[in-house]
Amino acid sequence: MEAKVTIIGAGVIGLAIAEELSKKFNKIFVVEKNKKFGQETSSRNSEVIHSGIYYPTNSLKAKLCVEGNKMLYDFCIKHGIPHSRCGKLVVATNLKEEKILNKILNQAIRNGVKDGQLISREKALELEPEIFCTKALHFPSTGIIDSHGLMKRLEANATINGVSFAYNSEVVKIERIEGGYAITVKENNIQFIFTTEYVINASGLNADQIAKTAGAFQKAYKIHYWKGDYFAVGNGKNKKINRLIYPVPQTNVVGLGIHATLDLNHGMKLGPDSTYLQSNTIDYSIDKKKQTAFLLAAQKYLPFLEFEDLHPDQAGVRPKLQLPGEPVRDFIITKETASGHPNFINLIGLESPGLTSCLAIGHMISKLLDN
Ligand SMILES: Cc1cc2nc3c(=O)[nH]c(=O)nc-3n(C[C@H](O)[C@H](O)[C@H](O)COP(=O)(O)OP(=O)(O)OC[C@H]3O[C@@H](n4cnc5c(N)ncnc54)[C@H](O)[C@@H]3O)c2cc1C
Repeated sequence: MEAKVTIIGAGVIGLAIAEELSKKFNKIFVVEKNKKFGQETSSRNSEVIHSGIYYPTNSLKAKLCVEGNKMLYDFCIKHGIPHSRCGKLVVATNLKEEKILNKILNQAIRNGVKDGQLISREKALELEPEIFCTKALHFPSTGIIDSHGLMKRLEANATINGVSFAYNSEVVKIERIEGGYAITVKENNIQFIFTTEYVINASGLNADQIAKTAGAFQKAYKIHYWKGDYFAVGNGKNKKINRLIYPVPQTNVVGLGIHATLDLNHGMKLGPDSTYLQSNTIDYSIDKKKQTAFLLAAQKYLPFLEFEDLHPDQAGVRPKLQLPGEPVRDFIITKETASGHPNFINLIGLESPGLTSCLAIGHMISKLLDN
């Protein structure tokens, strides 16, 4: 075999897996269709290091997020990656929401998030004098990260350990052969084939298509695209908070509700919202007509905001496994031996908290290859 391991996709997940596996294997290839790493979902997110509070107990999302949170902070400190453990408040604005705070705190505790604290309105206003709330949850372990800096370091570490990166190279076909797989790659309209013992499908929004290319698995995987728009906050209002501020999530809404996040330059963004893209085609345009809805949602807890403080910012697309109205699904990270694809690992539906979980996912894949 020409390669021991081939990783399809150089988003934060493929890069973290490459970095981790490079500690024990030689001949690792990362094949990426874009001209450099992290050009898709990994550069179109909130850059939040989540604590892991909302996900169902024992789900991969909960486990990998809680583990990944700690691993990511340690990695940032070790490699000098800009980050801030700024903390987060989940704010209730009425009695009904206050009751939900207790449920969120209990779920966080079940997930192993130990630092959450229910705080009074007075205490919340000591932390964030400009917000409105009646009670809040404070999670000091939530933070923000320079995701580009993280990916650059992961790529550099992997390269130092001998990983080969093939950019501008799109995987178009995967065939099972004796002892592994033959991968057909298209590079500048030229196709070539190489062989590999292991395949790791970390191709994000395309992961279901790549799985399909490789043949039948037990179940056909189907990713549904859900877009998230952001509006940036200007006019100096971005300086009015120092932590991430989230509303209490509504039970019938997909996503966490319009929340306020910060970046490392103290820029403030509202969003992302969550819109199902029926066409399943990538769309990064921002619908300016949403500005009033974003303002009204955020004014409930950021009363200082005015219409002219907001302007359209970025958008990202989540690869979700559920359709509108269906229950939230967990990440799929699975070795496909039972489906007749030994040494083939699919990672499907890697939406949030994928960035936070990336290093824990690297560890998990490393263990899956051992078994
Ligand atoms: C709006 C939004 C906000 C989010 N906020 C957060 C957050 O604050 N915190 C958090 O933890 N997570 C967050 N996430 C989730 C996080 O961004 C993702 O989980 C993570 O970036 C997924 O990384 P990935 O490597 O799987 O995907 P991607 O970054 O999409 O990478 C997949 C790569 O595969 C490549 N590829 C696809 N097909 C092929 C092919 N045929 N051949 C070769 N290469 C191919 C693509 O070009 C791409 O580079 C957010 C996501 C969204 C959309």
